[in-house]
Amino acid sequence: MYAEIIIPLALPKNYTWAIPTELAEGVMVGMRVEVMLGSNKRYAGIIKKILTEKPSEFNPKPILGVLDEAPIVYPAQLQLWEWMASYYMCTEGEVMQAAVPSHLKISSESIFILNEGADVDGQLLSDAEYIISEALQIKKQLSLVEIQKLLDKKSVYPVINKLIQKGICSVEETMHDKYTFKVENLLHLHPDYHLEAALELLLNDWTRAPKQLALLLSFLHLQKTEGHVQQKALLEKSGAAHAQLKALIDKGILVVEKRKIDRLAVDESLGNTNLHQLSSAQQLAYQSIVEQMKTHSVNVLHGITGSGKTQVYAALIEHTIQSNEQALYMLPEIALTAQMIRRLKQYFGGKIAIYHSKFNPNERVEIWNKVKSGEIKIVLGARSALFLPYKNLSLIIIDEEHDASYKQQDPAPRYQARDTAIYYANLLGAKVVLGSATPSVETYYNAMQNKFGYYHLKERFSEGALPKMQIVDTKKQTDQSAILTPNLLEAIKATVAKNKQVILFQNRRGYAPYLICETCGWIPHCKQCDVSLTLHKGKNLLSCHYCGAAYPVVHTCEACGKQSFKQKSFGTEQIEEKLALALPQLRIARMDLDNIKGKNEHDHLIQQFERREIDVLVGTQMVVKGLDFEHVDLVGIVDADSLLNFNQYRVNERAFQMMEQVSGRAGRKNDQGNVIVQLSQTNHPVVAFVKDHDYFAFYEFEINNRKHFAYPPFSRLMSILFKHKENHIAEEAANHFLKSLDPMIQKTVMGPAQPIINRIRNKYIWELCVKITKQPQQLQIAKKQLLHFIRLIEVHPRYKSVQIIIDIDPN
Ligand code: ADP
Ligand code: ZN
Ligand code: ZN
Repeated sequence: MYAEIIIPLALPKNYTWAIPTELAEGVMVGMRVEVMLGSNKRYAGIIKKILTEKPSEFNPKPILGVLDEAPIVYPAQLQLWEWMASYYMCTEGEVMQAAVPSHLKISSESIFILNEGADVDGQLLSDAEYIISEALQIKKQLSLVEIQKLLDKKSVYPVINKLIQKGICSVEETMHDKYTFKVENLLHLHPDYHLEAALELLLNDWTRAPKQLALLLSFLHLQKTEGHVQQKALLEKSGAAHAQLKALIDKGILVVEKRKIDRLAVDESLGNTNLHQLSSAQQLAYQSIVEQMKTHSVNVLHGITGSGKTQVYAALIEHTIQSNEQALYMLPEIALTAQMIRRLKQYFGGKIAIYHSKFNPNERVEIWNKVKSGEIKIVLGARSALFLPYKNLSLIIIDEEHDASYKQQDPAPRYQARDTAIYYANLLGAKVVLGSATPSVETYYNAMQNKFGYYHLKERFSEGALPKMQIVDTKKQTDQSAILTPNLLEAIKATVAKNKQVILFQNRRGYAPYLICETCGWIPHCKQCDVSLTLHKGKNLLSCHYCGAAYPVVHTCEACGKQSFKQKSFGTEQIEEKLALALPQLRIARMDLDNIKGKNEHDHLIQQFERREIDVLVGTQMVVKGLDFEHVDLVGIVDADSLLNFNQYRVNERAFQMMEQVSGRAGRKNDQGNVIVQLSQTNHPVVAFVKDHDYFAFYEFEINNRKHFAYPPFSRLMSILFKHKENHIAEEAANHFLKSLDPMIQKTVMGPAQPIINRIRNKYIWELCVKITKQPQQLQIAKKQLLHFIRLIEVHPRYKSVQIIIDIDPN
């Protein structure tokens, strides 16, 4: 017997290996096996098909060993991978690379590390396992080659796999960063007081130390309301000193447990699905969607910001898990999952788990297994959560479905997770709900074509109206260089005086996006990219936002030698500084990629803002998305022009979404909020739509544009990038490629052209853009041709070092 096996590499096709008779009995599709590629590379691959016929062209090498007793993926997942590879024009190996957590992938490049506190008990280990764990204890880490030498066996992966399962070692993919996680202190009542009577006795007999008693009472209260008590939260809520807590611990009343913050998988709290009643408007939305699910597998919940879409999703999820099926709740970005999990845990307690690519690898495998067995019913996650082995997934919610982050840019697979989820749901017979306050043009179009079901939730839960929009014309300001107009500053002051909070949005980080020599106009650029350098004042450096390179600040012009630089435009750092100068009494914080490192930091800042320890939050996109803050009354869009000046067919859509979404952070509870938009292009049509919060007028305007220029949803786009360190080679390759295409397809190609940023990391870029009709047949023909000629370029003597990147349905 033979097997077609997917290994986590970008191979043009899957290879076949022979299944030795002694292994034949235990082998099933979806299991991992150890295979050799070339003379010395070993991989844990996944069996895609079992074949009875020997391939005619070659003699397959044998599989070396079997790693699993049962498949780790379901057949539907393998079907999904195959579709993704074909649709997004990548390889199944690349999909596997993205889909499977690192602990389930072992390869020659892996490093094996001894787990801290691993229980290395000789009696529970086989001889081979014992040899390796002994060596690990001495050396702490081993490479695959070292393990091979120690074992002197043909097949080593099954041994390693057992050691991983037994918690003795972990796999590290050498090219990945190590993910570190924080530990928190959880407090519990000592078991002696678990009985009501014992606790009562303790409280009644309490004589001295009233502050300790108060602290204990706050502990009991928190335990009742939250289910578990974090030391930090308790000290904050009760205002008690650490010494009082220590006294309770020393007396043996409370005990401390150190726990990794991300260890959500072990949460056993029950949650309360009746926490909130649906409002009558939400109830109607819910019923309509349930009804439409009978006829439509995809339904759009178009609910304005603050309408309580989360509530409707929670009801749909509840409905799903009641029939013992699984639900997936997707968010576009990892950063958003932290606030949402706190909200959803109130309903679903330990039934919900969080999963994304930044998660600790051990826990990813743990969740993987629990989703596979059906123990975990609900998963909240970013893109990669789609790849978990669901036992019976029947509902996928895609929140903020319009968000560009659903598209993976780099590396391959460059997939659109929303579209992929729709395909997958069809495969599984599951239902999809696409939720947004500003549905993407494609989604709304599909709803209007009755391809998707649709419901419009028109009112805010709080019965408050959408925020009032005020446009401030920056052309009419007396001080043209002022970043914050007097209008905005006054409004900020008034808002904070009312004890409310402010969000200021600017889609550029750093201090000044570029410097320019006032004498000759020279602009400092990155040495590796065709990008002007952004000044970061706090760090005192210039930085390239494309490759991350940092340079010392220049004072002398490289072109004319004068020292007369002027800073142009502004980023979040400068807004923060100017605001602090103008209103020094405010508590201001900044949220952007520069000062937010891990997801914990992001969440920390959000929680500080929730607790109102910050008056004004200045930030990039990060502050726009889906977050729910109760006390924000004012939102300022500091430089709306910067959103309107992109050369991209989606520019209007993105600008509308961004402005409407950021506005939606204002006045979510009770009072009507205010939004101030600073801009000079006051006649831009998108601005009028935002001012009236008129999605439908925006859509009419935009869909006509798209139709006129035959852009999606009236066509499909594919972008093909040619990258090379020599500009002319990249250009020639693109032209050569274009000329080889069938004239019919040639007609649909725009370019080759240089993108606005035409060099990144020392590689010049030329782009072809293919615009084809939506007939699936034409798409197939085009893809086949493209792939054929790409393969030819890859072996062409002159162009083979050109890197070709295909992006289907680019952002
Ligand atoms: P959206 O995602 O549609 O912008 P959210 O789901 O974030 O809106 O809801 C906005 C706010 O209103 C949240 O703070 C939420 O807790 C509150 N809310 C919405 N619906 C209800 C309800 N039925 N009962 C209580 N609070 C609700
Ligand atoms: Zn100069
Ligand atoms: Zn650069």
